[in-house]
Amino acid sequence: MTQPFVGCCGVSKMLETDVVVLGAGAAGMMCAATAGQMGRRVVLIDHAEKLAEKIRISGGGRCNFTNLYVRPECYLSANPHFMKSALKQYTQHDFMALMQKHGLSWTEKTLGQLFCDQGSEAVIAMLKQEVDDAGVCWRMATQLFEVEAHPDGGFIVRTSKENWHCQSLVVATGGLSIPQVGATGIGLELAKQFGLPLIPTTPALVPLTFQPQDLWGELAGIALEHSAASTGDISFREAMLLTHKGVSGPAILQVSSYWEPGKAIVIDMLPGLADEDIFPQAQRDKSVLNLLAEHLPRRLAQAVLGEESRPLKQLTPKELATLLHRLHHWEFIPSGTQGYRKAEVMRGGVDTAALSSKTMMARDVPGLFFIGEVVDVTGWLGGYNFQWAWSSGYVAGLHV
Ligand SMILES: Cc1cc2nc3c(=O)[nH]c(=O)nc-3n(C[C@H](O)[C@H](O)[C@H](O)COP(=O)(O)OP(=O)(O)OC[C@H]3O[C@@H](n4cnc5c(N)ncnc54)[C@H](O)[C@@H]3O)c2cc1C
Repeated sequence: MTQPFVGCCGVSKMLETDVVVLGAGAAGMMCAATAGQMGRRVVLIDHAEKLAEKIRISGGGRCNFTNLYVRPECYLSANPHFMKSALKQYTQHDFMALMQKHGLSWTEKTLGQLFCDQGSEAVIAMLKQEVDDAGVCWRMATQLFEVEAHPDGGFIVRTSKENWHCQSLVVATGGLSIPQVGATGIGLELAKQFGLPLIPTTPALVPLTFQPQDLWGELAGIALEHSAASTGDISFREAMLLTHKGVSGPAILQVSSYWEPGKAIVIDMLPGLADEDIFPQAQRDKSVLNLLAEHLPRRLAQAVLGEESRPLKQLTPKELATLLHRLHHWEFIPSGTQGYRKAEVMRGGVDTAALSSKTMMARDVPGLFFIGEVVDVTGWLGGYNFQWAWSSGYVAGLHV
């Protein structure tokens, strides 16, 4: 027999609650608030001292909290349909309405990306308020020791503060990226413990590194405002940046989520520009370097051209075609990525085949839920990952 709920100040050895949410990040707070509003007794546990570090550092401190154009195609998953139900049940407009309710405003930066005008801290404060108002019992700075199935049903959660017996357990402990701010693989371990399959994990939305023989490192610091990066299957037209270690910037981060080791990346340095726009025949007396430098940083134009410094009119059609091909198809095979220390998210995670898309509950373990980044649903750069956290958290909150 389990004991009655004794509230946050209880001292009995095994405390009783309806729901334990592990991880007070984006998905965990949304889930806890929703479940509390549904009248469930909820305990929200996190090992961090400081609340929601990933929200704090997101979007350069302004939290790109969602995207106007959220749609399933902007997510990677072994099952491309899995995220549809949650995204429909709690949309970007629902989160925008929540922001409005709390007096927060936003600015659309580019490609539908919405940033909070009051900054990331305001988004955290808003979520904390929602969790508080829902009567949730907070347990920050609390180490998770062990989780096990209770013989009478539900789960036992042993922590450094107390032990809890709950009917529903929600794993919202995020992915492996940025261990510096408290990311751990506990969610993946819990999935394994309860027999749920995993999709192999890799860093995603991450800078790519060069092979040592690629000498592009000399061009570190050069930014291309317009570029298109492609893996062959998918292409992203955004800015990119050359760094000492390789390439970064939005176009590269996006394409990194689709990259597999050994695969080439193709960069179009002048996407959408017609040959005549780059090398106008009316200016055939000008050197190709000067013409190219009108579209690319001069250092990069020089690197692309090498020794070539003739006027346009002296290039044969074949030479011009080769040059244009080089500009539109700079191909390289990255040596790897900068890993979880620099990745915005983790790709892979708990296999969605083991979860209900309508509730986020494990099909074969009643009462066990996985939400947010620990699940094999990875969004594009641009607010899509937070939207997945809000949507999956909300849906689980309704069903715990
Ligand atoms: C630098 C950076 C910038 C980003 N910017 C954006 C952005 O602007 N827009 C966007 O959509 N996405 C952004 N993301 C991605 C986004 O932050 C994540 O996808 C999102 O936070 C995932 O939510 P989550 O709740 O699943 O996990 P998290 O928010 O990571 O929360 C997981 C929680 O679990 C806790 N936890 C982990 N292990 C344990 C344990 N063993 N015991 C107890 N608690 C534990 C952690 O302390 C944490 O509080 C960014 C990520 C990074 C790293």
